[in-house]
Amino acid sequence: MNEFVTKLPRNYKIQKPGKQFRQSELSGLYANCELHHVFQGKNRKWSDYYGLVIWITEEEHRLIHTGKKPDWVDGLHRAYQSKYELYCTREQFRQNFGRSYL
Ligand SMILES: [Zn+2]
Repeated sequence: MNEFVTKLPRNYKIQKPGKQFRQSELSGLYANCELHHVFQGKNRKWSDYYGLVIWITEEEHRLIHTGKKPDWVDGLHRAYQSKYELYCTREQFRQNFGRSYL
């Protein structure tokens, strides 16, 4: 976990590692996996900075980004906010992400 900051460097580059054959951190399945940034949109850079990312199968990833969001997406938000709060406070989470999921 990185230190709490409210501003990232202007040239901060979000990681785009592509596909890897590995175990999904969501389902435990071995498959081609992609890195998903748990908090999306303008919060994507914060997901990246704080390591709030998860390797999931291509299929699981497609479920999140196309069509209806599965129920477990909210669970991911809560679980990864909890990870963040191991190192930083809820108020700091709000400053980074604009709201609390807990
Ligand atoms: Zn994604």
